[in-house]
Amino acid sequence: MNLKKIFISVICLLSVQVSCKEAAHEHRLKGEINPQKSLVLLKNGNTRYATDHPNLKGIGKADRSKLVSGQKPYAIVLSCSDSRVPPEIVFDQKLGEIFVVRTAGQSLDSAAIASIEYAVSHLGSNLIVVMGHESCGAVKAALSTLKGGDAGSPWLNKLVADLHPHLKRFSELSQTDGVIVESWANVEGVAKDLLDRSEIVKGLVQPGEVKIQNALYHLGSGEVEWR
Ligand SMILES: [Zn+2]
Repeated sequence: MNLKKIFISVICLLSVQVSCKEAAHEHRLKGEINPQKSLVLLKNGNTRYATDHPNLKGIGKADRSKLVSGQKPYAIVLSCSDSRVPPEIVFDQKLGEIFVVRTAGQSLDSAAIASIEYAVSHLGSNLIVVMGHESCGAVKAALSTLKGGDAGSPWLNKLVADLHPHLKRFSELSQTDGVIVESWANVEGVAKDLLDRSEIVKGLVQPGEVKIQNALYHLGSGEVEWR
């Protein structure tokens, strides 16, 4: 590729980036779905799920076809990878409606931050839900290694080390029922970390264009508690 072609490619790439960001901004400013309305949609979906009345719509062939050309998920859900906590089901959402990032203990690694930044910058998502859950194994593992110890591998040690600052006031020996209190502390710590570590997220949250909402899922009832 000669120099002229490289120059044109870079200009094209930058143009696409700018237009994507403008489209995301416009999508949020339209007011069709603001952060408050996004939250209502998720709350209503969770009520349908928890009362055994899910819509089970928006997952068919026609829905897939509509989404081939692009996506505009209104909310981002950062949640634990736990198999009992699938956000699309817990919030009874259709294809294309929520952008989901999942890691054990919703720990905020670089890929998770980048994924969230992509969704708020390019897809117009305006609500970021940080959702922990009852009896989280990652929170329990972090509690059990607060005073040292091996979580099982260098990667697992890195993950629990990321959670430790959120849990340092607790002890493994006096865990609350379902580690609920500790899991809330982890959710709040992750949400704070996200603001501290992402200039993009902070720049959108401060003027109110994007909202971060903390949440905790209860395994037995299926209800999401908001805080
Ligand atoms: Zn978990």
